[in-house]
Amino acid sequence: MEKIPFVTKEKAEEIAGVYPTPFHIYDEKGIRQNCENLYKAFSWNKGFREYFAVKATPNPFLINILREYGCGCDCSSLTELMLSKAIGAKGDYIMFSSNDTPPAEFKYADDLGAIINLDDITHIDILEKTLGKLPEKLSCRYNPGGFFKIANSIMDNPGDAKYGMTTPQLFEAFKILKSKGVKQFGIHAFLASNTVTNEYYPTLAKTLFEVAVKLKKETGADIKFINLSGGIGIPYRPDQTQNDIFKIAQGVKKVYDEVLGANGMGDVAIYTELGRYMTGPYGALVTRAINRKDTHKQYIGVDACAVNLMRPAMYGAYHHITVLGKEKAECVKMYDITGSLCENNDKFAIDRVLPEIEMGDLLYIHDTGAHGFAMGYNYNGKLKSAEILLKTDGSFELIRRAETPKDYFATFDCFDFYKKVTE
Ligand SMILES: *Cc1c(COP(=O)(O)O)cnc(C)c1O
Repeated sequence: MEKIPFVTKEKAEEIAGVYPTPFHIYDEKGIRQNCENLYKAFSWNKGFREYFAVKATPNPFLINILREYGCGCDCSSLTELMLSKAIGAKGDYIMFSSNDTPPAEFKYADDLGAIINLDDITHIDILEKTLGKLPEKLSCRYNPGGFFKIANSIMDNPGDAKYGMTTPQLFEAFKILKSKGVKQFGIHAFLASNTVTNEYYPTLAKTLFEVAVKLKKETGADIKFINLSGGIGIPYRPDQTQNDIFKIAQGVKKVYDEVLGANGMGDVAIYTELGRYMTGPYGALVTRAINRKDTHKQYIGVDACAVNLMRPAMYGAYHHITVLGKEKAECVKMYDITGSLCENNDKFAIDRVLPEIEMGDLLYIHDTGAHGFAMGYNYNGKLKSAEILLKTDGSFELIRRAETPKDYFATFDCFDFYKKVTE
């Protein structure tokens, strides 16, 4: 897929004149179009709902755009729940899919009326003790183990993942929950990440639908929804083909009719918890080239670093880079594009062939709209950047200011360190 920035150099410079680089920028138009398509694709399922994975891009302004289309919030921590509450999400519009959960967070989720998705069978007791009694509606997270394969190729390794209950545990959990008065059930599984194939959801769905039929037969549980969770990927690399959400949804429909429909379960709602797919391609990190260094390799130092985008350092992830204003220029140089951390893996690209970069050029790092800003940290005393929304009408708005040194010192507030260096 051709990688085209959603801002021009002129627009990016205009924004940088107001909010200095580096910054993450989001494309409202792209986010809206994509969300609309998701709902269109799954409109065959009456109860369909997307719960946006808040951890991917925990920005209230962006989540509120998705909420206009009927999305809920998928949370896995206290502050994600708080953020969802702050923007008015509650009840069935919050899915609490956590793991290794502190009891107090179950309590907070339940107070909000959130749907709790149990990661482990031991959480039944914990939940009951914490709340006094179990909620009427509960979901269980399933992990069948082994490898997740499509045709014969291995997509991921759930057998090595900490999440979810085994098959016997899932059946046992449903029986216990039923005996303790739970009335409505959900099943959830997340078995492969960033899948760039139209087959992931249909394959996963088939597994879950078959389990649902068995669970209903064996336990009598009233299964209200099946949560296919996240995992639909995006083409980070130009040689990858974009997923087709309409094909994916039709693939799910086919197995839905074959398995659930054929077994009298044609009213089960399909839920998703997509993060990356919802916002990933509609965010970019804009950063300026500020240093050039020719030693054993050719380096371009930029004003962003891994603190602003951790994926390359953490996973060796590829993020495409466009030198703004040089979209059509020939790629004639091989660079390492680096940040300023005292960490040699602080590189946005290694041996990347790009047009000649001059000092002051703006680099547009693609696909940072999910798991980008959100994974930021403060190593080396580096500060997190601003987030900016490029609106549908072409104007731009600050949706999170950049951190300042005062924020960095904030957790020492009782020691007045910030005062000491500023007065
Ligand atoms: C991370 C996560 C998601 C979203 O994953 P994506 O790969 O961004 O789609 C959804 N659900 C849960 C429970 C998660 O942990």
